Amino acid sequence: MVNFHILTLFPEMVMQGLNTSILGRAAARGDISIEAVNIRDYTENKHGRVDDYTYGGGAGMLMQAQPVYDAYRAVVDRISQNGDGNKKTRVIYVTPQGKPFRQEMAQELSKEEELIFLCGHYEGIDERVLEEIVTDEISIGDYVLTGGELPAMVMVDAIARLVPGVLHNDESAETESFGNGLLEYPQYSRPEIWHDKQVPQVLLSGDHAKVDAWRLEQALMRTKERRPDLYEKYMDTHR
Ligand code: SAM
Repeated sequence: MVNFHILTLFPEMVMQGLNTSILGRAAARGDISIEAVNIRDYTENKHGRVDDYTYGGGAGMLMQAQPVYDAYRAVVDRISQNGDGNKKTRVIYVTPQGKPFRQEMAQELSKEEELIFLCGHYEGIDERVLEEIVTDEISIGDYVLTGGELPAMVMVDAIARLVPGVLHNDESAETESFGNGLLEYPQYSRPEIWHDKQVPQVLLSGDHAKVDAWRLEQALMRTKERRPDLYEKYMDTHR
């Protein structure tokens, strides 16, 4: 069970994206919980402002420290009232300046009980509050988006599906791409022939050992061709 808390200026966007399909059902069953906390609810500015100009000049607005900090405190106080007040909750600031997000990180984070995600917007967030509350800075890739909502949704999705109970078939997370260090083999469903293309015979043979061998061979070929970096790493550890 992981409780996800997402600090954002756009809670509806996050909840709409995460409350559907597999994750929506997992939340309804109680295998995970997801809440979006509106940072704007915590501003002390009487006009509801959460951003201001950057010192030193430059284009764009910056999210101010106070509302972000108070939103964070409200979540942390609730977490400690509900359970283990001693454990430091990880706070992930999603930022293009962070470590690149990878499947191993998703695996590691899926073992936490509470995770707080902080989404920036505009030019980002005042550095001082980041210094005080953030434990991890993570990026979803070398490009810049308008806000942290999509990156947070990407990470929550990747982490949540590794939480026991979320996917019905535990095996599927293991054989999938990156689960064993390789890209996944190609897959086929009915009908046996479509557009004159026949499903590989071995998959119809019922011989599980042969099917497994074929799949491994395909996964190796695919990874070598598409991701030589992963292939080299896999070969180094399997020689
Ligand atoms: N000024 C920042 C910089 O140059 O590093 C970029 C700010 S970006 C326009 C606004 C927000 O979107 C960031 O604070 C961050 O939360 C989020 N964001 C944008 N691209 C991202 C990425 N590749 N990975 C994670 N978060 C990202």
